[in-house]
Amino acid sequence: MLCFDADDTLWHNEDQFAEAHRKFAALLGAYHPPEVIERTLYRIELGNLELYGYGCKGFTLSALETAVELAGDTLSRREVSALIAIGKEMLAHPVRLLPGVRETLAQLAGSRSLGLLTKGDLTHQERKLRDSGLLGHFSRHAVIGEKDVATYRRIFGLWGVDPAAVIMVGNSLKSDILPILELGGTAVWIPYPLCWQHERAEPPADHPRFHELPDITALPALLERLGSGAA
Ligand SMILES: [Mg+2]
Repeated sequence: MLCFDADDTLWHNEDQFAEAHRKFAALLGAYHPPEVIERTLYRIELGNLELYGYGCKGFTLSALETAVELAGDTLSRREVSALIAIGKEMLAHPVRLLPGVRETLAQLAGSRSLGLLTKGDLTHQERKLRDSGLLGHFSRHAVIGEKDVATYRRIFGLWGVDPAAVIMVGNSLKSDILPILELGGTAVWIPYPLCWQHERAEPPADHPRFHELPDITALPALLERLGSGAA
């Protein structure tokens, strides 16, 4: 099975978070410098991950908590409303596919079984998947809470797929690449220009089942090489 990550692999996502961070820092700019706001928000987001999981709703709640911590009782109703608006804007933002995604998936779906695994808010991810127009290409898809070895093992088990036979394509080394390699599968890393610091990891050095591509349009040629045993 050829399995894809979604956010920042099939469509833009992290640039929206970067934009939300900029707006948030501007909103609280009267209280603290941007680096203090950013550092505090990151600490609170990490502390809340276990409770909120990944995604825009968790980000919004953590941003509210950060604002309360940094601005205290001086935080105004207007500022709280502006903050909630930043979160809602992210949730309602139209899906923007990355270049070549539509064509490449259409090409690959003709000859292979495609899966999709994405983490984050269930409602938001389902909406993005539906609006993307890509859903029909995937024989399996799931929105999961975490992307680690245990979760991949469980999901591929449910799907009746041997993880060692999976080729996972994604932008996050931590979430899409390292767990699949550990399970004996093949990983194709397509970096996105931006990466949330929590998702950062070192690429594996000289791993025989690890491949890096500049963009998704290079995937069919890599799969052909892998199929012929040449890569
Ligand atoms: Mg991703």
